[in-house]
Amino acid sequence: MSGSKIPFNWPHMTGKELYYIAESHFGGRLAGDGPFTNRCHGWLEKRIESPKALLTHSCTAALEMSAILLDIEKGDEVIMPSYTFVSTANAFVLRGGVPVFVDIRADTLNIDETLIEAAITPRTRAIVPVHYAGVGCEMDTIVAIARRHGLAIVEDAAQGIMATYRSRPLGGIGDFGALSFHETKNLISGEGGALLVNAGASVSRAEIIREKGTDRSRFFRGQVDKYTWQEPGSSYLPGELIAAFLWAQLEEADRITRDRLDLWDYYHCGLEPLERLGLLRRPIVPAECTHNAHMYYVLLAPEVDRSAVLTALSQDGINAVFHYVPLHDSPAGRLYGRPSGDLRVTDDLSSRLIRLPMWVGLQRVDQDRVIESLTRLERFTA
Ligand SMILES: *Cc1c(COP(=O)(O)O)cnc(C)c1O
Repeated sequence: MSGSKIPFNWPHMTGKELYYIAESHFGGRLAGDGPFTNRCHGWLEKRIESPKALLTHSCTAALEMSAILLDIEKGDEVIMPSYTFVSTANAFVLRGGVPVFVDIRADTLNIDETLIEAAITPRTRAIVPVHYAGVGCEMDTIVAIARRHGLAIVEDAAQGIMATYRSRPLGGIGDFGALSFHETKNLISGEGGALLVNAGASVSRAEIIREKGTDRSRFFRGQVDKYTWQEPGSSYLPGELIAAFLWAQLEEADRITRDRLDLWDYYHCGLEPLERLGLLRRPIVPAECTHNAHMYYVLLAPEVDRSAVLTALSQDGINAVFHYVPLHDSPAGRLYGRPSGDLRVTDDLSSRLIRLPMWVGLQRVDQDRVIESLTRLERFTA
């Protein structure tokens, strides 16, 4: 292996994906909401302790559905971190909403719950905590704030499947939870996602919005004689082949999570000496959170030149990457959103973070190579 390239991500297959797709194919079932979709729904509802799970095309689609379900209108404000993927904000901007960006905590890089109340105005409608790296946000505080001000909570749990906050699965705590099964996430179907509808009252509306604004789901359950157009909606359900693929992944979810945690722990131990030397900082997981090893990142010391490090890793055949460009600093973020206060921690940490290769099947010798390459960080200290 030594000398070969180490990709940043490599999608892990359990081996049963094509088998289940064939089963669907020979069963003559290709459209959505068939037997595999139902199995996935049941699994998600049980594991996330949510009354209703609905597969979607993506986490992006699930977030869009929650914006529709919350009746977000022009000028409505939605509080979220700036340090997140664009979909968190897009879903609300598409309905005329205004993202209000709040700074992140220095330990978890999650939204700083102590700054949320200062961002609330009479136009605020919802809070969107993003569970970065599969480490839960401080949900008790966020839920208390939402209750006090009558706000909804949409958890962006794209990275959070199989992780918990105070023993509660991420995605099942807020009014809505949005999951991703994109190829780069822990459990995958290429593109894919799910909406968790935790506020009981919205379940039938969620089904309607996902089925082109019709009550088709009720029709199939025999609850109505024919289905008709009920309200504006779209087509958010994936075909059955995607669900068949996903089922092979859900069946192996515990093993996949264990394998990822092993990889994570190995990096964590191996990089401890570099942290002691002050060259980088490793991820911090608060005691109340169990994480899912969604990613392994390090925060380089301020005097270390990140682009030089990424170039050196690349020369050693290692594909490490950085993200995100904070949304308040992006062209669309400046146009459609606004920051609440200064976003000092976001600006600082987003400029110092790198993500290391992390995928089921990554070998110890490859992880050793990554650690060894980073051990020469001192070269890049100003
Ligand atoms: C990956 C990701 C998304 C988008 O997920 P898709 O399934 O690709 O739409 C949204 N938010 C966060 C935080 C993500 O990491």
